[in-house]
Amino acid sequence: MFSSEELKFAKPGAVRTRIAPSPTGLLHIGLARTALFNYLFAKQCQGSFVLRIEDTDLERSSPEYENDIIENLKWLGINWDEGPDISGKYGPYRQRERLDTYKKYLDILLKDDKAYYCFCSEEELEVKRQYQMSQGEAPRYSGKCANLPKETVKKYLAEGKPSVIRFRVASKKVSFNDLIRGRLEFDMGLAGDIVIAKDVSTPLYNFAVVIDDFEMKISHVIRGEEHISNTPKQILMQEALGFPRPEYGHLPLILGTDRTKLSKRHGAFGITDFRREGYLPEAIINYMAFLGWNPGDEKEIYSLPSLVKEFSLEKVQKGGAIFNIKKLESLNGFYIRQRSIEKITELCLPYFIEAGLIIPIFEEMQYPPAYGGKQIIQKYKNSETEKIITLDVLQKIISIYHERLKKNSEIVELADFFFKEKLEYDKKLLKWKGMNDGEVRDVLNKLENILSEISENNWTKENLGNVLLLEAERIGPALQKDRGYLLWPLRVALTGKEASAGPFEIAEILGKEKTLNRIKTALYKIS
Ligand code: GLU
Repeated sequence: MFSSEELKFAKPGAVRTRIAPSPTGLLHIGLARTALFNYLFAKQCQGSFVLRIEDTDLERSSPEYENDIIENLKWLGINWDEGPDISGKYGPYRQRERLDTYKKYLDILLKDDKAYYCFCSEEELEVKRQYQMSQGEAPRYSGKCANLPKETVKKYLAEGKPSVIRFRVASKKVSFNDLIRGRLEFDMGLAGDIVIAKDVSTPLYNFAVVIDDFEMKISHVIRGEEHISNTPKQILMQEALGFPRPEYGHLPLILGTDRTKLSKRHGAFGITDFRREGYLPEAIINYMAFLGWNPGDEKEIYSLPSLVKEFSLEKVQKGGAIFNIKKLESLNGFYIRQRSIEKITELCLPYFIEAGLIIPIFEEMQYPPAYGGKQIIQKYKNSETEKIITLDVLQKIISIYHERLKKNSEIVELADFFFKEKLEYDKKLLKWKGMNDGEVRDVLNKLENILSEISENNWTKENLGNVLLLEAERIGPALQKDRGYLLWPLRVALTGKEASAGPFEIAEILGKEKTLNRIKTALYKIS
């Protein structure tokens, strides 16, 4: 076995990894993490990363799930070299399209008597299982059909007696060197013969995966810890068919903060959900790398290309990796700040639209042919006032929240007051540190007087800041008040919120008229 350091210098193409999702659910964080680690390992060894869709479970598989998996892996930037959508040398890459191949190998196993037909009914097996468990034994197949005479098998099959195909699990110890866990050994004497197909045209996971990993020349199988107990079974089938054994590495489970296996109970962990909430792909990639891997130093920020260079399977831990949403949020905030205001505005606008605050409109503009001829220009209007809101204003709104956004969907809660005509808030919120109604009224009156003196031309956050801070300094000490005395009621009057960006930048964006109107409304509330 080579270390992953050595494999970085392996012959290009020698390393082939794969992700083999069953399309029975949306792409979730566990599968995406497995895809990422396989991708990183393949890329750093100049190998290939393969996507194979394991859709043998016809009832539970659906094209919608397959699409979700493909779309979201692409969105994350985890691209494969071979897969159902781009084909490749070892395709097809959907198990449903490979049934002939499985049949070929099932026939070999049956012919060589390494697998056999089993005619035990479900009820019969269940009774045995219950009995074994009542005796404190692990349930395993009794072997009742293991040695049926050939003639009997033929007769039953001809009669159409329901059957499955079982693989003869050798009663021996199977060991392998797990890339993450080191040497693991399993006593297969306890396993019993396993069902590998419902019939020659309907293989089950443990069998199909062995055939495909072999046929697709997979060199390294890196997958979740929940598959550890499948590995010795798969190894025995490889031995029965004379296949070489790939290397195996089992990634640690992802746990919730309560240290139990991550599940629906802990919230939504579909990549689609993260995407909808406004997480950026680079943040999710960076975060997922740390779900089990640790570079061993303080460095926390990794792009996909830097992970390809620095990731190493040897540094993947054995113990469960805890999913901490706060950590993901803070990384996401970091990556939001790396993107331009223009880009974040583009990503935030759909949330305003969905919340019904703004409406996109499309205007047809006629330019001379040299300037592009007819063009569709997208604009936005306020859904209450129907007034046009320019992109410039929208970008200004985003810019004052760029520093504090942790995910793009938060923008609605933070900035909805810009678009609303009427703000709902309790008048008590206008009071700063024990002010009474009269004091609030005085301050609001003062604000109205001062601000109405400022011309539209001078209505900039800098100027508003200068004027209001000067006033706060002037009256503050006399009244023994800090500047919140003046600025808090202003901020609440403008936003209706307990927390927001600063009042000067908000007032600049709202404009003089709206600012004064909101102060008047606040005065009315408190009177
Ligand atoms: N189809 C299996 C799953 O989704 C793949 C397991 C494997 O990687 O072998 O869990």
